[in-house]
Amino acid sequence: MTNYQFKIEKIIDQIKSKEAKVVGLQFPEGLKIYATDLAREIEEQTDTLVLISGDPCYGACDLSDKEMEGLADLLIHFGHTPLPIDQKIPTIFIEANYQLESMKILKEALQHLDGKKKIGLVTTTQHLHLLEDAEHLLEENGKIVIMRAGTGTLKGQVLGCNFSSVQDLPVDAFLYLGSGNFHPLGIKLSTKKTVIIADPYLNQVRNIDEFADKILRIRFARITRASEAERFGILISSKEGQSRWELAKTLKKMISKEGKEAYLILLDEINPPSLMPFMNLDAFVVTACPRIAVDDSKMYDKPILTPQELEIVLGVRDWENYEMDEIKY
Ligand code: SF4
Repeated sequence: MTNYQFKIEKIIDQIKSKEAKVVGLQFPEGLKIYATDLAREIEEQTDTLVLISGDPCYGACDLSDKEMEGLADLLIHFGHTPLPIDQKIPTIFIEANYQLESMKILKEALQHLDGKKKIGLVTTTQHLHLLEDAEHLLEENGKIVIMRAGTGTLKGQVLGCNFSSVQDLPVDAFLYLGSGNFHPLGIKLSTKKTVIIADPYLNQVRNIDEFADKILRIRFARITRASEAERFGILISSKEGQSRWELAKTLKKMISKEGKEAYLILLDEINPPSLMPFMNLDAFVVTACPRIAVDDSKMYDKPILTPQELEIVLGVRDWENYEMDEIKY
């Protein structure tokens, strides 16, 4: 049915051993299309009712445990590894490993790593199981592979807001195995080192530099525009894994100290419609998911900044010291 491994036997075993009567299923956007197939399979093989979370989900920071509490007695969350946050109901995490047909994309990637000896191998949850084979292949081709676990991440794993596994790693370049620019961009902005993407989905090898430069130019433009702002909205997430209340209060003080106005705004989903009632403000600072400001800024009419970008706006940080915003779990 799919290249993803949903570990249905493990799920069925867990449901039976926990004697769950109602099971919640939660998927990131890319996997939601498999929800009804899995629900049917679970209901056929167990005496359980399945409740699918239909809300958007982008990470383990955004568990639907709060919403499912009182309805489901077990939550199965797909596509992410757990974060150190409390869960309101018992939760099982299923990585949903992606099975690759071949590793030939890595051989092609080697040509882009000429002259680079020490390679940091890195990926996301769905491809962690491929790292061992990838490491062997690189070593057979004369590379030294360096990988490390981070704070809240496994060996070689990054999240969109957590690059602790790659920071200060003594490597000449990073090789990212996976799709999209989202994670490689974060690795680049966080480490400033060469990042080569081996993308088995598009069967393409590329360097993130050009894309990262484009994003940095956009960030510079947003920061410049926000320098004229007098009234700021500080956005705080009600999702437990994205909530940074202390940081929000610190930012409010920092803005007030400069004689400008700052308002604390609590939101579950941050998107352009949710900010419509606040268009009397000149700029926004996001203390929720760090990627909202960096990756979605084109969707917003007003400048939308990370906390570090606000520091540049207020003159307490130089542009040369631009830093990626991260959540320290
Ligand atoms: S905060 Fe954002 S980047 Fe971090 S895990 Fe959640 S959705 Fe992903």
